[in-house]
Amino acid sequence: MTRDGYQIFVISNQAGVGKGVYSLDKLKRIDANMIKGVQKLGGKIRKSFYCTHRSDAGCTCRKPGIGLLKKALKSLNKTITHAQKAFFVGDTEGDIKTGHNAGCKTIFALSGREDRRYMRRWTLKPDYIVKDLKAAVPIIQNENSRHLRNSRRRS
Ligand SMILES: [Zn+2]
Repeated sequence: MTRDGYQIFVISNQAGVGKGVYSLDKLKRIDANMIKGVQKLGGKIRKSFYCTHRSDAGCTCRKPGIGLLKKALKSLNKTITHAQKAFFVGDTEGDIKTGHNAGCKTIFALSGREDRRYMRRWTLKPDYIVKDLKAAVPIIQNENSRHLRNSRRRS
């Protein structure tokens, strides 16, 4: 748990495993390194959840499906209704859809591959837009300290 009382999960589509582009073992090594790397910088990722199915597999865990989010909440003995108290931070339109589908507040980080210019075409807008993951932290802390009053800024 973080100082502010949050549990942090990573939820990621890794269809490359299902397609045979890289192995599950390799993904596990990358994941372990990422968690360790974040830990060294003072961050705390509780657990990662990956969808390793091909995009045409029709699974419910591939984002924008919320299967993995439900799993993450279940690991805390919480149900999907708890998602309202959670922030979903992502760098693709699919991430924002995922967060929205689950009922989370959404934060779009511009540090990914997706270009801000394309956002005009999005049917769904994130609750917040930040330049990178680090910039999402004060937003979450600020909202936390206001006890989630309905004062969300819309971008
Ligand atoms: Zn899946």
